[in-house]
Amino acid sequence: MAARIIAGNWKMNGLAAALPEVAWIADAARDMTCVETVIAPPVTLLPRVAGHAGITPAAQDCHAADAGAHTGDLSAPMLAEAGARAVILGHSERRANHAESDVQVAGKVRAAWGAGLRTILCIGETEAQYRGGRTVEVLARQLAASLPEGATPANTIVAYEPVWAIGTGITPREDEIERVHRALRDRLASRFAQGGEISLLYGGSVSAENAASIFALQNVDGALVGGASLTAGKFVPIMNALA
Ligand code: 13P
Repeated sequence: MAARIIAGNWKMNGLAAALPEVAWIADAARDMTCVETVIAPPVTLLPRVAGHAGITPAAQDCHAADAGAHTGDLSAPMLAEAGARAVILGHSERRANHAESDVQVAGKVRAAWGAGLRTILCIGETEAQYRGGRTVEVLARQLAASLPEGATPANTIVAYEPVWAIGTGITPREDEIERVHRALRDRLASRFAQGGEISLLYGGSVSAENAASIFALQNVDGALVGGASLTAGKFVPIMNALA
């Protein structure tokens, strides 16, 4: 059985004034025995998030190299030293805003694993690809090219995030999410020895209102949440829907 995981991606949000939200989320997380709670704050808050028991602290990106002349970048060992135990890689906002390719993402995944960080690998189709009925084909290509050999349930989590569902309040139909997650499970199971047990998260406009019905779907092991993870008042009900 894949582990059940609820992850919050704070993106470029959060000053120190937001830290009480983390404390409340951590309180709730410690009460949930069967669900892991991950918070990916901006790097500036990472050491302080890492100070909370009950939460797995995560970064939102890393460089593929361990060190070097890369102004403004952060390496996986640096993030691990700052308290990260996981890192989100290949998010569609990085792919779009920084032109990250699948090959580059794969390099980052290897670097993360090398530093002992679990990877939350994001894949997702655009609206045009969705409308063209190409979702599974696009995801299969992204998965094949951005997840290197050596993925295990201990070092990898995969998040399916349709680009058109992020921050829009729109989600795929439940049967669509179920079909996509089934396809991803099958591909992971056929490629990696324990691939069938890699956790599969859904992401894109997850809210307290829709979380329970999404979590009831087969092969959905949790969620990667953006906007609704910024406040405990919105995130804790989503956590509880998975518990
Ligand atoms: P929203 O939950 O704000 O749609 O964002 C999803 C996301 O991109 C998480 O990585």
